[in-house]
Amino acid sequence: MPTPEELKSRLDVLMGRVREACARSGRDPASVRVLPVTKTHPAEFAALAHALGFPAVAENRVQEAAQKRPLCPPGLRWELIGHLQSNKAKAALQTFDVIQSVDSAELAARLGRLAAEAGLTREVLIQVNSGRDPAKFGCELEEAPAVLEAALAWPALKVRGLMAVAPLSDDMAVADRAFSELRLCRDRLAQGFGVSLPELSMGMSGDLESAVTAGSTCLRVGSALFGARPSA
Ligand SMILES: *Cc1c(COP(=O)(O)O)cnc(C)c1O
Repeated sequence: MPTPEELKSRLDVLMGRVREACARSGRDPASVRVLPVTKTHPAEFAALAHALGFPAVAENRVQEAAQKRPLCPPGLRWELIGHLQSNKAKAALQTFDVIQSVDSAELAARLGRLAAEAGLTREVLIQVNSGRDPAKFGCELEEAPAVLEAALAWPALKVRGLMAVAPLSDDMAVADRAFSELRLCRDRLAQGFGVSLPELSMGMSGDLESAVTAGSTCLRVGSALFGARPSA
């Protein structure tokens, strides 16, 4: 586990990258948040991120987050960034403040109904496979309007924007394309539905510069902060 000092110095390096990328594209660094991804790491990592001033952390599995959350400060917010199976929708609503991985109209409707029944409201993002990568989750670009429409039907769901994971590739142009496709998709949806979709969750440790250039507002960063994950 990194010491608080190690984490602090990795954070300095990371924020330097974010500032530089913002400077290159004429963006205000305050318009991009860093969301620490604590998956596979012990709960202490999330508590450490909170101590460093991060208001939220992200996890990709419901059960893992449900185990860690009670061990962490109650003020810390938890965001789901991994694929959600419909039989875990209820547990996800109980465990997470934000669900970034809503990737079908069926899941949106189920989350909306269950949240309403439980008297909860939850922020959600629509996950779009904007890089058209068969290995990645997310709805197809063409399905995004139907998923958004299903989510908007439920007042218990506050749709904040879109999320994407770029295809793995040595060619940076592949990530560039996936990120600008997500932004274009957001622009079309916001205009078509007359809603504000301010959040673009895109970019991770390896491709955050490209994501900032394309307009990311949320960088989901794991390894650049916490080091390599234990291989599963
Ligand atoms: C693991 C994960 C990340 C963080 O990846 P790093 O390369 O470690 O920064 C970001 N987004 C999603 C959806 C992830 O599953």
